[in-house]
Amino acid sequence: LGMPAVPTKLADRRVSRKIQVGKVAVGGDSQISVQSMTTTRTSDIGATLQQIAELTASGCDIVRVACPTQDDADALAVIAKKSQIPVIADIHFQPKYVFAAIDAGCAAVRVNPGNIKQFDDKVKEIAKAANETRTPIRIGVNAGSLDARLLKKYGKATPEALVESALWEASLFEEHGFGDIKISVKHNDPVVMVNAYRQLAAACDYPLHLGVTEAGPAFQGTIKSAVAFGALLSEGIGDTIRVSLSAPPAEEVKVGIQILESLNLKPRRLEIVSCPSCGRAQVDVYKLAEEVTAGLEGMEVPLRVAVMGCVVNGPGEAREADLGVASGNGKGQIFVKGEVIKTVPESKIVETLIEEAMKIAAQMEADGITS
Ligand code: SF4
Repeated sequence: LGMPAVPTKLADRRVSRKIQVGKVAVGGDSQISVQSMTTTRTSDIGATLQQIAELTASGCDIVRVACPTQDDADALAVIAKKSQIPVIADIHFQPKYVFAAIDAGCAAVRVNPGNIKQFDDKVKEIAKAANETRTPIRIGVNAGSLDARLLKKYGKATPEALVESALWEASLFEEHGFGDIKISVKHNDPVVMVNAYRQLAAACDYPLHLGVTEAGPAFQGTIKSAVAFGALLSEGIGDTIRVSLSAPPAEEVKVGIQILESLNLKPRRLEIVSCPSCGRAQVDVYKLAEEVTAGLEGMEVPLRVAVMGCVVNGPGEAREADLGVASGNGKGQIFVKGEVIKTVPESKIVETLIEEAMKIAAQMEADGITS
């Protein structure tokens, strides 16, 4: 009997309806997408497009822009047209900006109909306009802006309160025959957030946008998001993700992509397998790993590069990788596909690894292997 196959994913994906956010499908069997949000004034078209270009380069699939003023609404048409990735307009309270965003050709709108219900027929009109243009809408329930009625009923933003709010918001559109919806129920506490999404996942078939809101500065926010998204994605829940960090948006994208790659939900690109170093290390592993990472940044092929500090685990790991180094005695043994191809002095390790990585990458590209 052979060894059991190593599972490549943790769970089957929850069955959700598929919606189309511009060129990016969300839900169903589509690839889980990574989103971020610009931090520029949307009315500053140049700065916003510049940031969107940076996000696109970092691998962002969908970008959201805030639309709090008429000037922002006026900028949407140019931004939606020039952006390489679908643009979602983020709107609170103002139905007129929702119509402006739909007219501007935004790929989707984030708006909570509960916010605009007081404008009576506006929800119906939005449903009609969105239906006609096939513009999906994200309903985004946040712990911090939970409906007063539900806060009173539940005392605080519990998972049940978040889910009830989301389903009620969705029903306001459903009444008008509109169902091109995706939903988020964000909370800053990963435990509440995970429970809310689990309940929501069981209660509807809308695609779900995962987010831990106000997750904090990069270090804390990365961990909170990774833990919460990891729990949900490992159960097959989640169709698009946004990591919220008090850091530049491209950082959010890097973290989001890494979370998906870690769970085999997105093909891995460059992966550096480096040891944590210990008392046996015969080389500065941190520096070496950093230099190799920097030298290979932007590589699009699924290359696994091992950087090991000594000869204990070094050769083993280096052999498992496409390329690797095991250091010792001021030298580095360079491995390619399990074979030692040369031994170089420590000062030449980085450049040799980069040189060999380029050769392998060129071969992979020639063979059509890209991630
Ligand atoms: Fe320590 Fe060597 Fe393992 Fe690195 S590879 S952690 S230096 S034993």
